Amino acid sequence: MEVARHWRTRHQRYGLVGEVCESCGNKIFPPRDICPDCEAPAKTPYTFSGLGEVYSYSTVYHAPEGYEDTIPYTVALVKLEEGPLVTAQLADIEPQQVSIGMPVEMTTRKVRQEGDLGVIVYGYKFRPRVHVPEV
Ligand SMILES: [Zn+2]
Repeated sequence: MEVARHWRTRHQRYGLVGEVCESCGNKIFPPRDICPDCEAPAKTPYTFSGLGEVYSYSTVYHAPEGYEDTIPYTVALVKLEEGPLVTAQLADIEPQQVSIGMPVEMTTRKVRQEGDLGVIVYGYKFRPRVHVPEV
């Protein structure tokens, strides 16, 4: 029972959830409760497809504490299919393979390990898009 519920809400918890403006249909991420286009209240949750393309990127060679084992890594500005730009780390790719306009998709990954307690923080990253049918 617990497992089933965990599985079902999985997508919701790790998906890219923003908002949609009911006045003009603008898709908003991150959520800010106000439409940046028409300034109408926007509080309707909207789950993004997680698909987008690399808009710009930069490679990080000197990592802050907690990120040392992942350098070098590439942080990209990803333009989502729905419009908004999201900043996220890229996964499954060497920094020299990244290019502007590359199709990417969201994936949930371990982002970093926190302090002595070893708490693992999960978050979203983007990886080169692979066309695998959803199960
Ligand atoms: Zn609007």
